[in-house]
Formats: sequence, C-alpha cells, structure tokens
Amino acid sequence: MTARSAALFDAARRVIPGGVNSPVRAFNSVGGTPRFITSASGAYLTDADGNELVDLICSWGPMLLGHAHPEVVAAITEAAARGTSYGAPTPAEIDLVAEIVDRTPVEQARLVNSGTEATMSVLRLARGITGRDKIVKFAGCYHGHADSLLAAAGSGLATLGIPGTPGVTAGTTADTIVLPYNDRAAVTAAFAEHGPEIAALITEASPGNMGVVPPAEGFNAFLAETARAHGALFVSDEVMTGFRVSRSGQFGLDGVEPDLMTFGKVMGGGFPCAAFGGRADLMGHLAPVGEVYQAGTLSGNPVAAAAGLTTLRLATDEVYAGLGTRADQLRAAVSEALRGAGVPHLVQSAGSMFSVFFTDADEVVDYAGASGQDTAAFAAFFHAMLDAGVHLPPSAFEAWFLSAAHDDAAIDKVITALPEAARAAARAAEDPQPKQGNDHD
Ligand SMILES: *Cc1c(COP(=O)(O)O)cnc(C)c1O
Repeated sequence: MTARSAALFDAARRVIPGGVNSPVRAFNSVGGTPRFITSASGAYLTDADGNELVDLICSWGPMLLGHAHPEVVAAITEAAARGTSYGAPTPAEIDLVAEIVDRTPVEQARLVNSGTEATMSVLRLARGITGRDKIVKFAGCYHGHADSLLAAAGSGLATLGIPGTPGVTAGTTADTIVLPYNDRAAVTAAFAEHGPEIAALITEASPGNMGVVPPAEGFNAFLAETARAHGALFVSDEVMTGFRVSRSGQFGLDGVEPDLMTFGKVMGGGFPCAAFGGRADLMGHLAPVGEVYQAGTLSGNPVAAAAGLTTLRLATDEVYAGLGTRADQLRAAVSEALRGAGVPHLVQSAGSMFSVFFTDADEVVDYAGASGQDTAAFAAFFHAMLDAGVHLPPSAFEAWFLSAAHDDAAIDKVITALPEAARAAARAAEDPQPKQGNDHD
C-alpha cells in the first residue's frame, strides 16, 4: 500500500520543488513513490500508509542509536522545556565540544548547523590562514553543497548523474582542483604544479558518498604529508564517518592526524548540528579571537547540543562492536544472495558502513569505477527490498547504515528479503531496456 504516500507526494510537489527538501529523497534514480514517513522507532520507519520498514538509511548516518532512543528523547524534551534558543553561550555547548575533543585529535571546535556549513567554514579558515586560494578535492567526495565544493561531487549529484551544477560561477570552481581518488601520482602532480597556491586539501576520511570507497593503505597519511610539504592544510571531512565507523571515526581506524576536521551527522543525534575543529593555533584565527569571520544565529543550539551529547555519551565501545558484528552479518548475507542469483556485485566497507556496487569489477577505488554500476539492477533490487519492508538508501551511490537498534528481528527481516530482491536484480541485469538513472521529472 502506497496510496497515502502517493497522495502526499503529489501535494508535496505542488509546493516543494520535486516534492523533497533534499534531492536523493525523491527516488528519481530508482523510480516510484518515495515513502512519506510519519514516525520512527528503533530500527523501523512507519510510513503514511502504515507500512513498517526496516530502516537502512538511518537519516543518512545520524541515527547511530536508532530512532527515538528513550534517553535521547528525554534529553531533548528536558532541554526544550528550558527554552529552545538563546543567542548566548550555554553550558551544553562546552560539554558537546569537550566530547568531540576527547574522541578526536582536534583541540578546539566550533559548532555549526550542517555539514555543508562546516566544510564551507573550514575552507574559509584554511584560506584565511594560508593567504592562498586553491583547494584540492577528489571526484566523488561530497562535502556538502557549498559552491566551491560542488565540482565533481558525489551523493545526490552522483545519483542524478549531474557533473556539477548551474549557479556556481566559473570563478568559484576555478580555485577547486579535482583529482581522482586514491591516485597518488595525481596528487603529487597537482602539488608540483600549484603547490604555493594551495590552501588546503580536503578529503572524506573514508569516502561514503560514491558508495563506500575506502582509502588505499597509507593514502590518508600520504595526503597529510604531501599537503604539509607544500605549506597547505590537510582537512579531513568526517561528517559521515565521524563517531560512526569507530568511537573516533576514521581517525580511530587509521590514526592520521589532520590539521583541521569537519563533523556532522552522528554528533547531532538527528538534529541540525555539525562542527569544524583542529589545532588550537589554527582555530585561533577565527573571530572573535582572529580575523576570519564565521557566525550562526542557531549555532550550538541547546536542544541540538543535548541530542548530540546524549547520543555520543551512549555511543560506547560496545555499541561500535555490536554495529561491526551486524554489518559483517548483513554484508555476508547480501553477497550470498546476489551470488546465488548470479548478479555481479562488490561489497566494500569502512567499519560498520558499507555499500553494494552492482558491478563486475574486482574493486572500486575511485569515482570512475563507482560510476560503472548497473543502476537498473540496483533499482530493481531496491524496490524488491522496499516491497518486502526494507528501506535501503534510494541510490546505488550511497552507504547502507545500521544502528544499535538493529537487533536480530530487524536483521532477519532484511536477510529474508534478500533472495527475492537478488532475483529481481538478476532479471533487470538481463533486461535490454535502457538503464534508468538520470531521470529529472
Ligand atoms: C553529509 C555530508 C556532508 C554535508 O552535510 P549536510 O549536513 O548534509 O550539509 C559533508 N561531508 C560529508 C562527508 C557528508 O557525508
């Protein structure tokens, strides 16, 4: 039953472009009707027609503990009752930033409202500190929708097959150098040519926005060394991986110390809350101490800070270990089902974050590789899973997310749905119809 979601989608499209407030939610690349969600609890979403769906989106990462965790809800409710925004400093902000400082190499951080704001602000800071203009990023890495970072980005642009976007001036992207991921020679060459003009190299600590494409052994350390050798700052974007792939994010797995970092998603516990941080000498360039301006009416919002802090405090080593076990179980089951149906595929992971590429490649190391997927096979797989009550991310280019609330019952429901979905993918892979993908209606 999707009649109510369909009616809501019609109503939404009349007043909201495409019916959604973030493009990938619209199902353009998989077709069909997006489910309008009316409530969520633990590992499950409930849509407007009353369908209960195992949620493997988890709000694209934030819901590490599952939906409506009782302690998080209590903290939010208690904070909201004390007023929702003051425009003045609060004790809760100190606790949240202290928790981030405790878990990561950053010495200081500033809170903002979205990952986009975090990366936009951190690059302004890097440019302000170095007095240089250019930024190096990797194709397929998504750092939010700030103008200078929308060159060859992943996420929704990858899903919709958009290389860049109108509305971003040539002047803005002229200072963005885009390189293939995991390509040391390209990095070396770019710094050899533009070294003295490069303010920062920004990378997803372990990319998850072109599907999961982990850094090759030593790649992050190489990036840090290369940037520093040329007087540029190494910026690690952990908006997705931070507090998700381990207690300390990707840093907790590879130990490479960035100069500056960005965080979001999990640290907001489902609220608009993100951060950028780094060494105290670098962060000291921000106003009001230094001259680089950055501000926000709702930054450090007390309700968001309560949600984030409670989430992080509950995200213990046991939570991460449990997520890892569940992810292993699910990855193995997906592979087995797809293999059983003869569907070429590849599962790649970073901690408990993983994605499935519908490809016959042995590995995907960059955006060009990720783009070689059979998106029609994914679309068929996606819809068969949805029909069976499992909501995957509606894109072949996104990671699947688990939460601590995904218990045996939730995982069993996913595993039970896999064989039929794999057969649907096999039929679509054989179908000579043109591939679905860049569908903008
Ligand atoms: C989601 C994401 C962003 C953008 O965060 P928003 O809160 O959506 O603005 C930036 N960088 C990475 C790595 C992300 O995954």
